[in-house]
Amino acid sequence: MLNIVIFGPPGAGKGTQSQQLIDKYHLVHISTGDLFRAHIKKGTELGKKVVEYNNNGILVPDEMTIAMLKKELDDNPDAKGFIFDGFPRTVAQAEALDRFMTENGTAIHAVVALDVTEEEVRRRLQIRRDAEHRPDDEASKVNRRIEEYFNKTIHVLPYYAQQGRLTTVHGIGKVDQIFGQICNNIESARQAQA
Ligand code: AMP
Repeated sequence: MLNIVIFGPPGAGKGTQSQQLIDKYHLVHISTGDLFRAHIKKGTELGKKVVEYNNNGILVPDEMTIAMLKKELDDNPDAKGFIFDGFPRTVAQAEALDRFMTENGTAIHAVVALDVTEEEVRRRLQIRRDAEHRPDDEASKVNRRIEEYFNKTIHVLPYYAQQGRLTTVHGIGKVDQIFGQICNNIESARQAQA
C-alpha cells in the first residue's frame, strides 16, 4: 500500500498534483473539501450541518470531519493506497488518521507539503474564483481560509516532521516539474521505509 498526505494552503495546487498522483500510483483520492461540497450539493444531514462552515472558509469541527473520513476509508477496503488531500488539517485529525492506518495494518508513507507564498496563493484563488465560482473563493472568505491555515493547519507540519515523514516541495513553477519533485520525494520516503 502507498498512503500519501498532500499538504499546503488553499490554492497550493493540492488538487492538481493529486490528480497526477492518482494516475501514476492508482490511489483512491480522498479530498475532504470535495466530500463536504458533495454532501452540501446533495442536501444530506451532514451537508446541512457543514454548509455554513464551508461557505465561510472555517474548518468543520474535527468530530464530523474525522467520522466522514473514516467512512470513506471503510467504503474502500480494496484500495491500493490513498491520497489524502485537505486532510488532516488539525493535529487531532493527524492523530486519528494514524490510528486508522495502524488499525488497517498500514501507515502514512509520505507527507508532501507544497510550499507556496501567501501572495501566490491569493493570486491563484482569485483565478479559481473567476473560473469555478466556489463561494469560499470570494475575496472576503479567502482571508479567513488563509487565517485558518496559519492558525490551525500549520501545526500539523511539526507533527509529521518529528516522525521524519515530512517532505517539502517548492510549489511554484511548472506543474510537471513540481510533480517530478513530488514523485522523487515519495520514492525516497518509500525506500527509507523499505
Ligand atoms: P478545501 O476544498 O480543501 O479548501 O475545503 C473547503 C472547506 O471544507 C474548508 O474551508 C472547510 O470548511 C472544509 N474542510 C475541508 N477539509 C477539512 C478538514 N480536514 N477539516 C475541517 N474542515 C475541512
